[in-house]
Amino acid sequence: MTQPGTLYGVGVGPGDPELLTVKAARLIAETEVIAYYSARHGRSIARSIAAGLLREDHLHEPLVYPVTTEGTDDPAGYEGVIRQFYDDSAQRLAVHLAAGRDVVVLCAGDPMFYGSYMYLHERLAHRFPAQVVPGVTSVSAASAVLGRPLVERDEVLTILPGTLPAEELARRLADTDAAAVLKLGRTFDTVRAALLDAGRLPETWYVERATSPQGRQTPLAEVPAEDVPYFSLALLPSPTSAAARGASPRPDPVPVGEVVVVGLGPAGPRWLTPEVARALREAEHLVGYGPYVDRVPVRPGQQRHTSGNQVETERAAHALELALAGARVAVVSSGDPGVFAMASAVYEVATAESRFAGVPVRVLPGLTAAQAAASRIGAPLGHDFAVLSLSDRLKPWPVIEARLAAAAAADLVLALYNPASASRRWQVGVARDVLLRHRDPKTPVVVARDVGRAGETVTVATLADLDPATVDMRCLLIVGSSTTRVSSRGDGSVAVWTPRTYPG
Ligand code: SAH
Repeated sequence: MTQPGTLYGVGVGPGDPELLTVKAARLIAETEVIAYYSARHGRSIARSIAAGLLREDHLHEPLVYPVTTEGTDDPAGYEGVIRQFYDDSAQRLAVHLAAGRDVVVLCAGDPMFYGSYMYLHERLAHRFPAQVVPGVTSVSAASAVLGRPLVERDEVLTILPGTLPAEELARRLADTDAAAVLKLGRTFDTVRAALLDAGRLPETWYVERATSPQGRQTPLAEVPAEDVPYFSLALLPSPTSAAARGASPRPDPVPVGEVVVVGLGPAGPRWLTPEVARALREAEHLVGYGPYVDRVPVRPGQQRHTSGNQVETERAAHALELALAGARVAVVSSGDPGVFAMASAVYEVATAESRFAGVPVRVLPGLTAAQAAASRIGAPLGHDFAVLSLSDRLKPWPVIEARLAAAAAADLVLALYNPASASRRWQVGVARDVLLRHRDPKTPVVVARDVGRAGETVTVATLADLDPATVDMRCLLIVGSSTTRVSSRGDGSVAVWTPRTYPG
């Protein structure tokens, strides 16, 4: 029996023939059959990179794509046509392999990095010996031609195909240190819009055919879409090096000294916005209540200033002081920083002391606890609602009672923050009694504790049965209106929801 040939997926690198590995060059020289994908016009980028190594006596197997754009009249659609094409291509190579001939498939860049070689590998590697020879990727090439570090220290690099929807591109671009967006060409307008949306356009470079003689690179903002071929990428290099060397094409003026008041969301990284994540990374100082600062991963070089939860003014002053001295400061709140949290405290101090008048203050929103709690039980906030803090630490209790009564009389759903604490024990009971003067005793009350955190519990009581002993500082209460409903679902769960419409 003939010994079968070996399939080699060989990366030929980004363009410069000298960037083929020694191994790739040897395999091309030693192997009988050379295969490569090409478009219908017959040109193949991978073959042209390896052209200097190809000989007359090589057996060529061009694998010509039946469709180059996603338009096809075939009833099987684009996916079907392409699958058939890979099946046929694999079959053609299988004939050589079965006859004992080795086959090299030339792949631009690296075979397993968005490469079509992988579709041959998955069809053939279980039947014949197969080996992948890695190649220099376009991403490495782009950072090399720019002479800019891609990522350093603990920075994160995100690789994105430009074919993603603009919103997803923007979300991921906002949430990374460095990025490469591949598959430009027809996607260019979308990619550019996403970079702009994510605030990253000024730092981004356009790199075309990196390391090849036709290569060029310019700030991406200056490139007209009609000039962009598929063989190009967008590169957002390491932000550290940009800041250190002032080497960004159009650097955003780095705001020297500012206070950014951020909301971490109610719990966990899923409820932290990319914008806040970025502000936390860029800050030189974190200022906040201890347990909130503890939720932010430690970053080398970043200073953390924690304090107790009753010293908001001092904390705000400290943050402004640091910013006045030129530092970038993030003040952290849980949930949203504007809801019973640090944003107001910062403005209060910034306004009271004239020396802080020139310190820039920005507020970045976060998901507030009421939203998280509501989502866990259905849609209790689906109609008009009021948000109140039951804490009488910063306002007199009679004001709270009057507001509760007014909101209840107006038939608003109520989201009650800070319902109780270790020292504020009687308030929930009194609030319940005030509400009972205006609301049916059967009104549903959602008691949401530690939403999104370990030990989360979300229970539904009636207003009459609400037990204040079950409520503490880690709870949020949602009290229904006259139209709020409790429904049993088929899976045994209970949903609390308030209709969008109101009778009358
Ligand atoms: N800025 C925060 C609110 C701070 S007041 C925000 O927008 O969410 C603190 C109160 O928020 C707590 O007493 C509790 O009522 C509520 N809270 C915050 N996180 C919560 C969570 N994960 N689960 C339940 N309640 C929460």
